[in-house]
Formats: sequence, C-alpha cells, structure tokens
Amino acid sequence: MRHVSLGTLAIVVALAATSPARAQSPRQPNWADVERETLEHFQALLRLDTRNPPGNERRAAEYLKAVFDREGIPAQILALDSSRANVVARLKGTGRKRPLLIMGHTDVVTVDTTKWTHPPFAATRDSGYVYGRGAVDDKDNVTAGLMTMLLLKRLNVPLDRDVIFLAESGEEGNTRVGIGFVTEQHLPEIEAEYCLAEGGGATRIGGQVKYSTIQTLEKRGRGIELIARGVAGHGSVPLASNAIVHLAGAVARVGAWRPEIRLNETTRAYFERLAAISPPDVAQHYRGVLSADSAVRRAADDWLYEHEPRHSSMLRTSASPNVIAGGYRSNVIPSEARATLDVRMLPDEDADRFAEEMRKVINDPAVEVRVSPSFGRPTGVESRLDSEAFKALEASVRRVYNVPAIPVMGTGATDMSFTRAKGIQCFGIGPAIDMEDGPRGFGAHSDQERILESELHRFVRFNWEAVTSLARGERPRAMN
Ligand SMILES: [Zn+2]
Repeated sequence: MRHVSLGTLAIVVALAATSPARAQSPRQPNWADVERETLEHFQALLRLDTRNPPGNERRAAEYLKAVFDREGIPAQILALDSSRANVVARLKGTGRKRPLLIMGHTDVVTVDTTKWTHPPFAATRDSGYVYGRGAVDDKDNVTAGLMTMLLLKRLNVPLDRDVIFLAESGEEGNTRVGIGFVTEQHLPEIEAEYCLAEGGGATRIGGQVKYSTIQTLEKRGRGIELIARGVAGHGSVPLASNAIVHLAGAVARVGAWRPEIRLNETTRAYFERLAAISPPDVAQHYRGVLSADSAVRRAADDWLYEHEPRHSSMLRTSASPNVIAGGYRSNVIPSEARATLDVRMLPDEDADRFAEEMRKVINDPAVEVRVSPSFGRPTGVESRLDSEAFKALEASVRRVYNVPAIPVMGTGATDMSFTRAKGIQCFGIGPAIDMEDGPRGFGAHSDQERILESELHRFVRFNWEAVTSLARGERPRAMN
C-alpha cells in the first residue's frame, strides 16, 4: 500500500466526487481475459515474418495500427521506407507530467530454418513455451506495451502524463529507417520524460526468478582498424617488415590487453547488489572489482574474464579482434594487412585517448591504429537511479516478482541510445528468462527462440504495474 498523506486524501475525495468507483479502487484488469488476448496478439505478431533483412516491418505496423484503430486509440504509421514502417500511438493524460514512452522493435534477426524444431514463424505452443523468432527479442516487449495501452484505454485509467507507444523498425542494424528516422523527423510524436524498452529482464535460475535487471545505460560501439604496412617481396626471402607478422603481433597484444577498470553509478550498484544475492564464492569476486586494493581488483577481474566474460566487459572499454585480412598468394609477401576490432566503449570514454592507449600497448610504428570516424549510435544520458521511473520499476519488480531490481549497463546497443540522446531517460526491461536457456540455444538471436507463456503473462503484469504507477492520475501529489 502506498502511504497516503492528508494532502492525498483531499485529492482522493475531490476525485471521488466526480467518479467514485475509479478514485477509490482503480479497476483491475481481468487477468484471465488479458492472458488469452496477450497470447493471441503475441502469436499473431510472431507469425508475421519481419526478419531483417529485408524487414517488412510494415506487416507488424499495420497489424498494430488496426488493433489501435478498433480500440479508438489514436495511432499513426511513420515511414521513411514504406515497407519498413513504424507505428506510434498515444493516450492523452492531463499533462501535469511529461509523457512516458513505451518502445518495442518489430524486426527480428534472420533464421537458419534447418536448425529450428518448430518453424520460426509459426508461434508454436509446446510444453508451456511459445517458439518463434522474436519471442524474446523483441515481440515480447511489443506485445506487453500493446496490452498495457489497451488496458489503460479500456479501464479508462486517469493519466497525469501521456502514454506513448512506439513499435519501431530496423533495430537489428537499420536504425536509419526506424528509431533514427523517428527521433530525427518525428521527435514531437515521441518526446517524453521517460521511456521503457528492451535490454533488461528477470533472471530465472533453476526455475526460480532471482533478480531483475533494469538497463540504465549502454556501451557504445566504435570500430578500430589496425593496419600494418611493410615492404612487398618474394615469399622465398622472409622480411623483417612483413605486414602479416607485425599485424599478428599487434592483434596478440590487443587480445591479451585488458584496459583499465572504470566503474560508473550503474555498474557499481550492479556489482554491489548482485553480490548481496549471490553465493559467497561468487559474491567475493563481485565485491573484489569494487575494492580499493588493485591486487584484489585484478584477481576478481581475472576470475570474471575466465568465468563471466560479460561481467568483465562491463568493467571497461573492451576490444575484440574479429576480422583479419592480409595476403593474396603464398609466394608474395603482402605490403599491407588489416584487422578490425569490435570496440565497445564505456559511455564516457574518450575515443582518441583510448586509441592512444592502444598504440602504446601495440608499440609498433608499422601498425596504424585508426578509429572509425563516428559512433554508429548517438551518445545519451545515463538514466538516473534516483528518478521516479527507476523507483517505480524497482517497486514493480518487487510487487510482481518479489526479487530485487538491479541496474545494469548493457554491453551491446539498443534503440535507447537514440532516445537517450534526445534527453529521454530510458530503462530497459524484459520478461523472465531461464539463465540455462541461452547456453541451450533458445535465447535471443539463437538458432531457436522461445519464451515461457507464464513469463510472458507475468511480463504484461509487470508492464501494467510499472506504467500505471508512473502515469496513473490519482497518485499522491508531491507536497511543496
Ligand atoms: Zn532487440
């Protein structure tokens, strides 16, 4: 129960005079009906083939628009490329607070059909799961956002801020037609104080939800290319300047390098909170990275790098050599060889400073370190842990899952990088997923993808809780 102050009571009484039922006990959804309908929309969306490339997200946009039209929720299609449409819908509030935006992307990554037990676009239900490309990335978020909009409208929930829904195209590598286009050309339609999107979620271990992450910022990808140059010559006469040898040395040094550990508000809270709920033998490593003692930090980092590499990546700007090219025939020493590094920078990283560090690590004048001219995605603000939105999400996690919420920095990129760059504080959420499911090949981008039906429904509940607690009109007015 929410603490009710005297000031609040006055408001409740005032509201009661105009609409007694609503003000005193807000109508709750009939969850059995909601679950039936959730599954219907979810399966329908999974059955729309929106694999990207080519995308064809218009299919999903039109489906969603038709649902909104039937409900009388104003919605419009926004498209830079007609086949790659986005859809935006809005429920009006009193405007006392700035809007809340709920986002989900409608495109999915491609599939290798031969690897799927259940066809990727059939939305097959089997043993409590729904199978299909997009089941956890990201038609789960799209469906939960849609259901929340429908419920807000049908229950006529009074809102003190607009609630906006955006289903965007092109998240998987073509942001130009999706969030890039919407933020650049239709910002007023989606401008908000807060936004919710993919990127977090509850973690189940052994069938039990243990905690839920809320993504509050993400690393930024920026490519770096290593170019080694030497003298070309006949392969029968080895040369000290051989570009491949120089490149191989540089790649090996970068591969062995772990750049300095740098924590921010989110990662510090992440490791602290994770330590508090982890078994002692693992928790010691999470606490270790927070230690002021560099030897302890180093030992913890070594352990994470070997056992939990994603956590190691959260500690620093990371560089992974992923493409290497050089030479064209065995008897010619090439004059040039190149390697492409996937560099994921901490949000506040200075790219030039980092490249300079890398040059020192490589320590070879024959190897050029070239930073790609710009970040693929814009720079955004870190979403605050002391914001009303984070607190509402935390409380909703507690109510729906009864576990702690943990802020997390994403090591990959999401569309939130664009909305954050427009000053919107964004939070990544998601359904509960079995930690064991990823390694078994059922996760996002895997050769199969699935979600537990029960967790899809619980995610809709979570969305509803979070959105209503942030936007519902009869919340206590701040005292001032
Ligand atoms: Zn996604």
